[in-house]
Amino acid sequence: MSDSTPPTPAEVVIIGAGPVGIFQIFELGLLGISAHIIDSLTQVGGQCTELYPEKPIYDIPALPVCGAQELIDRLLEQTKPFNATYHLGQEVTEVSPLPDGKILVATSGGTRLLAGAVVIAAGVGSFQPRRLALPGIEEFEGTSVHYRVKAAADFHGRDLVICGGGDSALDWTVALCEKARSLTLVHRRAEFRAAPATVARMRELVAAGKMQVIEGHAAAVHSEHVAGANRLTGLVLQANDGQTTLKVAADHVLVFFGLHPKLGPIAEWGLELEKKALKVDTEKFQTSAPGIYAIGDINTYPGKKKLILSGFHEAALAAFAIQHHLFPEKRQFLQYTTTSPIMQKRLGVGGTDSH
Ligand SMILES: Cc1cc2nc3c(=O)[nH]c(=O)nc-3n(C[C@H](O)[C@H](O)[C@H](O)COP(=O)(O)OP(=O)(O)OC[C@H]3O[C@@H](n4cnc5c(N)ncnc54)[C@H](O)[C@@H]3O)c2cc1C
Repeated sequence: MSDSTPPTPAEVVIIGAGPVGIFQIFELGLLGISAHIIDSLTQVGGQCTELYPEKPIYDIPALPVCGAQELIDRLLEQTKPFNATYHLGQEVTEVSPLPDGKILVATSGGTRLLAGAVVIAAGVGSFQPRRLALPGIEEFEGTSVHYRVKAAADFHGRDLVICGGGDSALDWTVALCEKARSLTLVHRRAEFRAAPATVARMRELVAAGKMQVIEGHAAAVHSEHVAGANRLTGLVLQANDGQTTLKVAADHVLVFFGLHPKLGPIAEWGLELEKKALKVDTEKFQTSAPGIYAIGDINTYPGKKKLILSGFHEAALAAFAIQHHLFPEKRQFLQYTTTSPIMQKRLGVGGTDSH
């Protein structure tokens, strides 16, 4: 979408689709308010999905034990009736309050939304791939050096080097090995942090002479100048014995070193920060800018505890504050989902007209 296209109107835009951002959809939905939700990752779930999907959580009320991914799945199920619009794989780069009180939200993917209110549920920041640190590598990032696979077919018939030892590195090694012209897997250690079956399959491919695995690290890039541009041709690898250096052919290098959070553009939106967190009040969870709220791990206030439970509470109160911000003339009263026909209708559970 170009800058000249009018932005899409949105009642509320939620930045961050971690557990707290997802629950915000629910709390707004109960009050009849719709939401768009944006995350820089291509999947929802924030830290739960990205950092500890298999781990059990024991402090979610009424769920004595719940897997982190299971919690996200349950939240998605709970928010389904409210049909939020998801924009994944896009980092929010701009949040600009406009003179008429609306807020322009723009993303790296070209999405532009005109919001009545914004909730920042950005956790510890947006997750960014850990980069391969080699001199001169920047000019090949996005063309020959990749941190995620967009189209696997781009790598068919090519010389590939895959760096990393986790699930992503091993999954792509196994998936691409028999499609690539050559494949070298480079990992610092002999042990891999991936599903044992995938590691076993990789070892079979090595034994069959279809790929090689190097215990070491990438030390330099090789390129050649063709038709006015530099083209990546290979990598120099340094084996862990400290002596062996070898050059391998590489049209493409796929790097899977995991992700790390970065506060990133949030620090540039002119909002009051304290120790890399957004300062909010505890009545509305509003930041220093009217109409812009912050909930979950990204906010700070006296007594703040970075717990999912706290984020859920913050989402509930922020929803009431947002309702008042968007519809100041509307009378606010507390309704119970158990007894409110209107809330039950919104939830799609067929509320009756009796109270
Ligand atoms: C190993 C581990 C175990 C834990 N165990 C527990 C536990 O048992 N109980 C508990 O209560 N808590 C636990 N926590 C903490 C809990 O996971 C966090 O409190 C919770 O994830 C915070 O949720 P959130 O939605 O605020 O943020 P996050 O889960 O961090 O999600 C934020 C999302 O915002 C996105 N984002 C950030 N900036 C941008 C941007 N500019 N544009 C687009 N997207 C953006 C990020 O990509 C991310 O997906 C644990 C944490 C870890 C690491």
